[in-house]
Amino acid sequence: MHRRGINYLLSLITTLGLLAGCQAASPATKQASSQSSKASSKSTHSTIKHQSPAHPYQHWHAVKVVHLPILMYHSISSGNQLRVPAKEFRAEMTYLKTHGYRTLTANEAVYALKHRRLPQKKVVWVTLDDSYKDNMTAAWPILKQTHQHATINFITGFTHKKNHLTLADAKQMQASGNIDFQSHTVRHLDLNNLTYQVQLTELSSSKKWLDHNLQQNTQVICYPAGRANNQTIKADKQAGYQYALSTAPGIATSAQNAYNLTRQRVVPGMSLTAFQTLLTTTNE
Ligand SMILES: [Zn+2]
Repeated sequence: MHRRGINYLLSLITTLGLLAGCQAASPATKQASSQSSKASSKSTHSTIKHQSPAHPYQHWHAVKVVHLPILMYHSISSGNQLRVPAKEFRAEMTYLKTHGYRTLTANEAVYALKHRRLPQKKVVWVTLDDSYKDNMTAAWPILKQTHQHATINFITGFTHKKNHLTLADAKQMQASGNIDFQSHTVRHLDLNNLTYQVQLTELSSSKKWLDHNLQQNTQVICYPAGRANNQTIKADKQAGYQYALSTAPGIATSAQNAYNLTRQRVVPGMSLTAFQTLLTTTNE
């Protein structure tokens, strides 16, 4: 709500600036004109700043092989091995910030792997699986405070469940710019137990839902429990995905199979030294 309020105020300021710009054209209000032209040029500047540049990756440098640590989180809470407490998540996001890591968006990660280009040596992709409600209540405030970015692998058929994010939640988080969303299927079933047609439905229905509701081209599928079989990649491609995430450990690279990227699991109780070892790469 707070963020929305700020966005509303910003748009109001921009509108007022533009109106003031119109008034400035009138010769009757000379003094107002000099004040409003300042406001007008300020608002024009901020408008330009928020437009996406024609080539957002033009300053990225080419590398032979991209090494991209993809961190895997689930719930940000406590209780079992899949839950990382907020205090630890905060320390880890702060570590990334203070050590100069850039947390890539999903689109940036896809671009980096596909084109073998990077914005800087130290890059990481933070992912949270299963779209738990605590990703909004616990992880999102930390990401905003530390100015980091994460991708939530969203289960599109779980939006009615109490402990999971709704579409309204997702839209609110997406608008902040600190979170984006990729697919974690419709029902979170083990894909390797399903027929080809059911796999395809899980993959394509979740993509269509995200594409339509979040106005995006969803490019990444995250396999529930990391499970897939030899038909899954064909279904990934048919559904329109560019990359797929597994739960197999290791630093992902542009030389890996695009439909089986490895990830680094962050576990509760991990020291920052252990966390650091998950990130060690050799990007030049
Ligand atoms: Zn999952």
